[in-house]
Parts: sequence; structure tokens; C-alpha cells
Amino acid sequence: MELFDTHCHLDIDECFPDWAEQLARARAVGLSAMLLPGVTRRGWPGMLTMARQHQGLYAAPGLHPMYLARHSEADLAALDAIATEPQVLAIGEIGLDYYHANADRQAQQRLFEAQLLIARRHELPILLHVRKAHDQVLATLRRKHFPFGGIVHAYNGSLQQAEAFIKLGFLIAVGGAVTWERSRKIRATAQALPLDCLTLETDAPDIPIAGQTGKRNLPEHILAICQALAVLRGEAPAELARQTTANARRLLRLD
Ligand SMILES: [Zn+2]
Repeated sequence: MELFDTHCHLDIDECFPDWAEQLARARAVGLSAMLLPGVTRRGWPGMLTMARQHQGLYAAPGLHPMYLARHSEADLAALDAIATEPQVLAIGEIGLDYYHANADRQAQQRLFEAQLLIARRHELPILLHVRKAHDQVLATLRRKHFPFGGIVHAYNGSLQQAEAFIKLGFLIAVGGAVTWERSRKIRATAQALPLDCLTLETDAPDIPIAGQTGKRNLPEHILAICQALAVLRGEAPAELARQTTANARRLLRLD
């Protein structure tokens, strides 16, 4: 098995005080690489340190659209400065989140576009967080002619929207939701898309796998996610792991 988790918050101390043990357990089931997504500026130094010290760990610093109140204008300059670090393979997690009715959509849009500019300047792909705003994100990417592609994390849009992201150079990330019988739309989309457009992710400590409701999600569950997707698609888990890892490496220009 060679698994690449393209979205894992292993660097968040409060969630993973036992991160070294959790990383070892994930490696024991076949994890070879992991992309750590940014949430706020405060988390970037720890994330970069972790990526520097551990083989196969990489960073995607950025300002998450759900935490607008914690970001400042100065954070954008700081992001521009650290984007040159060799461990930084993408800018993330960035995007639009319209899930909460009172979300400040204009402020999210400004933040998203400012970070798209930074990604473009450094020729980096982006790690997208999108809820109930897939068409708006697609429209923004088209309007800005963003050429470096990226990964759509915890994909929950329609099949048509997934195909539109793929046309723009994006991979669709499949996570814990695919293990849940009731996630019909997500499962149908993960089944229908070509294998060379998919990546696997845990989003640990979030999005528990089936049977683990209320528990902290763990990096080692990347294997269960790979196995659930393999059953759904009628493919061998090892082949699925190999191909999704190759997809992530290609997109993140690790090869
Ligand atoms: Zn996340």
C-alpha cells in the first residue's frame, strides 16, 4: 500500500497531542505522504516545522474561509512570505463556505481572491474548502483564469460540478463520507469519476468514518477510506492507493 492523505490536520496540537504515535500508526497501514492544510496564521509555524522534520509531510498554508474574524490583512503578507518555503506545495485551505446563513460572503470572496493571487504569484496549486458555493468558486476560478489547479477537499458538490473542476485542472478528494451508506450523492460521484481525477484524504480529526461517530478521526483511517472506495468502484485497494498517490504527486509536482 502506498497512500497519500491530501488533507490531514495532524499539526493541530489540541487535536493531536499524540501526533507522533498517530503518524506512526498511519505509516504502519501504508501512509507514505500527507498534506497539512492551514487554518489560521497561528498554525503555520508548527505545520512548517512538522513538514521539515518528517519525510513525506508537506504544507499547504492558508486562511480558512470559516474563520474570517481570526484573519487580518497582515496575514496575507505573511502568507506571501512563507509561500517560498520548500515544504509549501499548495495554498490552503481556502475557498468559500456558504453553509451558515450569516456568513459574510463578500469578505470570504475578497479573502479567497487575495489568496488566489498569492498562489498564482508563487505558481502553486490550491487546496479548496467549498460548502454550498461550488458554482461561485468555479466562476471565480474561471474569471481569474487560475492556471495551477488544485484539490477540492471533502468534495460534496454534484457530478457536473466535479467535472467542471476537473476541466480546470483540479482533483476531487474523497474522504470519510464515502464510508457512510447514507452519503448517496458523494458515493455516486466518487464511483462515477475517472480514477486519475481522485485523491484520498482523512480530514482528521474531522469527518469520522462509518461506525466511529463522535470519535476523533485518525490519520490511519486513510486505509478504511481507500478500502470503502475500492469496494464501491470494484477496484483493488492497492491499485486505488497507487493511482490516487500518483495523482496527488503529479498535481503537487513532487515527481
Ligand atoms: Zn480541513
